Amino acid sequence: MNPISERIYSIERPNHKNIALQVTPAAERKLRQGHPWLFNQAIRKQSQTGQAGDLAIIFDQKRRFLAAGLYDPHSPIRVRVLQHHQPATIDTGWFQQKIQDAFNARADIPANTNGYRLIHGENDGLPGLVLDQYARTWALKIYSACWIPYLVDLLPLWAEYAPERILLKLSREVAAHPEALFGLKDGDLIYGTPIDNPILFQENGLTFEADPIHGHKTGFYLDQRDNRARVEALAANADVLNIFAYTGGFSLYAARGCAKTVTSVDISQPALNAAGRNFSHNQQHPNIQTAKHTPVCGDAFEILTQLSNKNQRYDLVIIDPPSFAKSRAEIQSALRAYQRLTRLGLQVLKPSGVLVQASCSSRISSESFYTHIHEAAMQVGVTLRQMESSGHPSDHPIGFPEGEYLKCLFAVKEE
Ligand code: SAH
Repeated sequence: MNPISERIYSIERPNHKNIALQVTPAAERKLRQGHPWLFNQAIRKQSQTGQAGDLAIIFDQKRRFLAAGLYDPHSPIRVRVLQHHQPATIDTGWFQQKIQDAFNARADIPANTNGYRLIHGENDGLPGLVLDQYARTWALKIYSACWIPYLVDLLPLWAEYAPERILLKLSREVAAHPEALFGLKDGDLIYGTPIDNPILFQENGLTFEADPIHGHKTGFYLDQRDNRARVEALAANADVLNIFAYTGGFSLYAARGCAKTVTSVDISQPALNAAGRNFSHNQQHPNIQTAKHTPVCGDAFEILTQLSNKNQRYDLVIIDPPSFAKSRAEIQSALRAYQRLTRLGLQVLKPSGVLVQASCSSRISSESFYTHIHEAAMQVGVTLRQMESSGHPSDHPIGFPEGEYLKCLFAVKEE
């Protein structure tokens, strides 16, 4: 039986007539530099209207080829560029090469890790398309409906790698335009057999659950793998507080690293339940079996204040909040929230303890983030001695300025 969902074959193919575009000089410059986005306001001339997935060819003022990409009438990012500088035929062979390049670039993923990102969107040359692997379950997340008409080309290419199933995830913006989706919905099975059990996968030899249907992102925060390993190395004999714990990624590593106690704080009870199950999945590790894990459900800011008032103190405090700056207008309030978390985190950190604080807001630069953390520490009379600052893991490459989002500071509390 063909594992590709029948519905994929009824999706309308893109218009065979390409859209020709001319753009502003500023956009031309960006495209020449290899930027993967063309915004709608930058379009000066357009040969015809188009549907999501139509091929758009962008020409410069002298009518020479500049770039080619996928058109999306529903997104302010009107074209996601596939090809810069010289023309190419965008066909199955072209997609196959990109997929191959992305997979080859992940050759360094250790054998005890089978949950990681296979394709990281624009940073792997496939803008708006993310493919995550959780053992033999793959989750495809698209950030533009322009990819829908190409599923029929992509799925047979992925089938070569024999995943058991592929689930489709839609960004909120994509889900808002059902007219471009040919009946497909968030969470749909588009390849292989339905999920029957929780999806279990390995990260650095630890077993985790992923829930691509209800979970955040595609089911797990795969981008924190290297930072979790750093935490494991710092956790021996420590009382560890993991704020914004989600399903306990950092908590499990801390426990395997011989932490005495691990407290996981999150506002989501289902996430904390999953954290508890992740501890059960790893009882074969003696350190995890003996570590005392306490889940605490509630607002991070309130819980930190309560813990501080109760004189609870920790050797290692991990703060990995959701993105606070979803738009440019939120940058200042996000920085203030990060600073509040730093101050609260330091209140419950023992002298010589380690603060691990991360940000996943692409609008906040690493420089600004670190400066604000150090400033917040000074406000409460603490000097932070920076041990390390880290960026992206190898399966989340950075291919353009907006692609850089993750930064994490490891610092010792000195008073
Ligand atoms: N550190 C996690 C990922 C964190 S994602 C990991 O390694 O997997 C951000 C988490 O913050 C989510 O689980 C979300 O439920 C939680 N969250 C959001 N707002 C919160 C708040 N005000 N207080 C506590 N948790 C919150």
